[in-house]
Amino acid sequence: MSVTAQLLKVFRVEQQLRGLQSRLHVAERFLAEQEKQLGVVTGGHAKLLAELKGLKTTIAGEESEATSIDARMGKLRDQMNECKTNKEYSAFLAELNALKSKKDELERAELGQMERAEAVKAQVEALSASKAEREAIVSKARKDRDAHAHEIKDRLAQLNGERAELAKEIPADALRLLAESLALHGDEAMSTVEVIDRRNHEWSCSNCQMTLPVELVNAISMNRLTRCNSCKCILFTQEDVVSKKKPKENEDIVKTRKKVAAKKANGAGEKAAVEKA
Ligand SMILES: [Zn+2]
Repeated sequence: MSVTAQLLKVFRVEQQLRGLQSRLHVAERFLAEQEKQLGVVTGGHAKLLAELKGLKTTIAGEESEATSIDARMGKLRDQMNECKTNKEYSAFLAELNALKSKKDELERAELGQMERAEAVKAQVEALSASKAEREAIVSKARKDRDAHAHEIKDRLAQLNGERAELAKEIPADALRLLAESLALHGDEAMSTVEVIDRRNHEWSCSNCQMTLPVELVNAISMNRLTRCNSCKCILFTQEDVVSKKKPKENEDIVKTRKKVAAKKANGAGEKAAVEKA
């Protein structure tokens, strides 16, 4: 068996593996996307919570400062009531006014922070709800992914075993070429040679539709591992594409076709007999 024919067997198994895994990959991509979005929501939620905590600390600090200013102002008022001289009174009054304006400033700042804290709190609540929704979606997506993985596990192991068994017989550089082509073309990693015109030596790559030179097609018919010059996929032929006459149809195909035709004829006869009766 030529290396190309051996590679084709591996490629057929590869195609089955890919088909089998495609639903799993869709489920994995969906899960990854949902996890990413949950990450964004969780990050935003944590940031807002930290801001809220900071605001609460600041507000508490300002409240305690206001309380100590109140205490100091009360004491100053007592001292003003008891003071003897104008000079003393003026000094207390100046301090009292300074404290009053400091307290006003503090209260204004506190009010602003309280408003911000209210807004942040509302945002935290909204994000908590969407975080819970996202978590439910992620959990369902994870379950779906696991279910798909479980469903195909045995068949996957079987196909991987088949592939490993087939690969044992194939030279490493040929396998590397197939791996490259699979990475590049996926399900079209190997492509047939299409006969456009036998008499005029015209062939094309069925993957990229580009014309194939006669030397390339000759190389394939001599069982050499050959790649398309344009798209680099590995070329193979399932029939003699070089000879000028169209090859006879595969005997097996002809036999199967005959069998099917015979069955159909029989079926029709039986049906007619039943209808007659
Ligand atoms: Zn091509």
